[in-house]
Amino acid sequence: MTRPGRHFLQIPGPTNVPDRVLRAMDLPTIDHRGPDFARLTLDILEALRPVFQTRGPVVIFPSSGTGACEAALMNTLSPGDRILIMETGWFSHIAWRHQAEKIGLQVDYAPGTWRRGASPEEVEERLRADQAHAIKAVVVVHNETSTGVTSRIGDVRRAMNSARHPALLIVDTISSLASIDYRHDEWEVDVTVAGSQKGLMLPPGLGFNAMSEKARAAGKKATMPRSYWDWEAILKNNAAGFYPYTPATNLLYGLREALAMLQEEGLANVFRRHQRHAEAARAAVRAWGLEIVCEDPREYSGSLTAIFTPEGHDADRLRGIILEKFDMSLGTGLGKLAGKAFRIGHLGSFNDLMLAGTLAGVEMGLRLAGVPHRSGGVVAALDVLSAPVAEPVMS
Ligand code: PLP
Repeated sequence: MTRPGRHFLQIPGPTNVPDRVLRAMDLPTIDHRGPDFARLTLDILEALRPVFQTRGPVVIFPSSGTGACEAALMNTLSPGDRILIMETGWFSHIAWRHQAEKIGLQVDYAPGTWRRGASPEEVEERLRADQAHAIKAVVVVHNETSTGVTSRIGDVRRAMNSARHPALLIVDTISSLASIDYRHDEWEVDVTVAGSQKGLMLPPGLGFNAMSEKARAAGKKATMPRSYWDWEAILKNNAAGFYPYTPATNLLYGLREALAMLQEEGLANVFRRHQRHAEAARAAVRAWGLEIVCEDPREYSGSLTAIFTPEGHDADRLRGIILEKFDMSLGTGLGKLAGKAFRIGHLGSFNDLMLAGTLAGVEMGLRLAGVPHRSGGVVAALDVLSAPVAEPVMS
């Protein structure tokens, strides 16, 4: 059905792809073994590092985020290795536990409530108890997309150091990279996993791994079979600007443009913009009298807000009405939050009026769906959005 105006894609990724990125991809595909392609690769790899806040290498896979999660495990571990995964929500389960078990790893799954981030204290306790250093890696989802909870990775790293445990730290930043402050080097992360379709403002189709020296050294000893995902083969080819197989050329054109946009805005400003939109979204939720899934204000997500609907009111019915009436897609409740919660994505290429429109759609939807709430959420958000903002940080 043709619908006037733009669809509001307010799921927490894939996000709205800016016209500038769409236009950048609308170019002829070139020879991926020719000189123009080599320049493209080398420019992109250079511009990517600051986004991960690393000086080390980043590899790009033509893959979904799940592929990049598998690549992190395949490149650093051996069959039967024990790893610790902190339960944060659906993605710690499906992208990590489920996948790790399928490829033959032994998983210690530290239970969580889906309302809080990974507990640094629990990481420390479990690692201290592992005197034999049987745990080879700790996996944490930085921003749990199913719950809107952001784990404190710096504190997790401090906990690992204080336990004096050599496990690798693997972090999933699929819904936080280029939206929420994330520091691969400073937090001594060994593998950072990311995807193209959220903060990077691209369509789905690229997966990323940034890795530490320690991760590469572990990889040289690790015996998990790997071919397509093999970092070393990619890094060797990347040195000259190439790939061991056909890369996703047109997505890479888009990535070059998206990286330029991030650089022009300045990462610090990008993070601030996300925080401000998240704060305005939470102001709306509180004014509606609804409950935010994230329980700890220190862990509020800058990229999405997950909201419970009151008992007896199906969140998917609300989403259905909003889609039908206002042509807006909101995130569904995943796993045990199915039907109980919905998610507002406010990440990527996103501005104040897009948020205002999004919240207006939610408020009208709540009314139409007969979900008990107070009106005034949009007004509360507008108060946040119209408050004076700090001067942008110049890079
Ligand atoms: N991890 C997190 C935190 C995610 O948000 C997602 C997807 O939304 C994934 C993993 C899986 O990524 P993909 O769906 O691109 O395979």
